[in-house]
Amino acid sequence: MTTMTAAVLQRHGDLDAIALQQVPVPQPGPRDVRIRVRACALNWLDVAIRHGPKFGAIPLPLIGGGDICGVIEALGSEVSGWQVGDEVLVYPLLTCGVCEFCRRGEPTICPQHRIIGEHVNGGLAEYVVVPAANLLPKPARLSFVEAAALPVVCMTAWHMLITVGQLRVGEYALILGAGGGVASIGIQIARQAGAHVFATTSSPEKAARATALGAQQVFNYREQDWVQEVLAVTGGRGVDLVQDNVGGATWAQSLRALARGGRLVPCGSHSGTTFALDITQIYHRQLRILGSNGGTYQDLAAALALVEAGHLSPVIDTVLPLSEIHQGHRLLEAGQHFGKVVIEIP
Ligand SMILES: [Zn+2]
Repeated sequence: MTTMTAAVLQRHGDLDAIALQQVPVPQPGPRDVRIRVRACALNWLDVAIRHGPKFGAIPLPLIGGGDICGVIEALGSEVSGWQVGDEVLVYPLLTCGVCEFCRRGEPTICPQHRIIGEHVNGGLAEYVVVPAANLLPKPARLSFVEAAALPVVCMTAWHMLITVGQLRVGEYALILGAGGGVASIGIQIARQAGAHVFATTSSPEKAARATALGAQQVFNYREQDWVQEVLAVTGGRGVDLVQDNVGGATWAQSLRALARGGRLVPCGSHSGTTFALDITQIYHRQLRILGSNGGTYQDLAAALALVEAGHLSPVIDTVLPLSEIHQGHRLLEAGQHFGKVVIEIP
């Protein structure tokens, strides 16, 4: 076995920028493991990388895919604590570990921070090599496909709501765009945190699914003025926290939906990166904007503990073989999905 099938991004551009190719099987360094990938979920990041990076350069050609679940197949010489045959998930961030931010426990703002599947080859292939330090056990109750749907959305939603947003029991939380992966996990985490949870989405079908995940009120942003609805159901008060990974199209409304002293926690901007801001509302109402970027290993481990206990569940829209990677990108760009699109590599 010297070559493997991989979905390789050859340039930035349309769907045909990705091609299935035979490439060399990667070899683990002393502190790495090689994983036989069994499933790899897609993220909006995969689409964004294909179109071209917002920050910095992407090394091409690149095997994408940061949401990796599989079986350890080879160990580097210095790896301990893991065995060939272990079923594992991969924490997708690579950080320096020694800068001031890493040392104070905030690796998501490490200036050296890189992402598996963006800056180094990821899991849209039969095999991937990752540092052993990035491994976590696959939750035993889940299949490979189910588990692959978790890492990026779990760490991101946990970091937004709990680590950065400090959501507390009894607070009101609003989760935007309930069909997205981060939002569909965010609804569940916010409920587990003891919050009253509202969500926005685009259709009655998605609203029903958001309700099933735990959202207590769901507003259709195509048909309703959701800011007015949020203010109405909170007696004019507004919500304590908005989880917003939509971006420029929603920030103005998110700020209006906040209670005095409320927190807007953004992570993502696929609808745009700018909007007109009236800054008076920020200081008059003492609003806080708390940026959140990915999540830590501990964020992911905490979320997976709730998964293992049965309190959080992956939300999967579609499972496709690696040969249908282009269809996966199409589904994400069409925006009709609810939950994750997962590539299975049996
Ligand atoms: Zn660092």
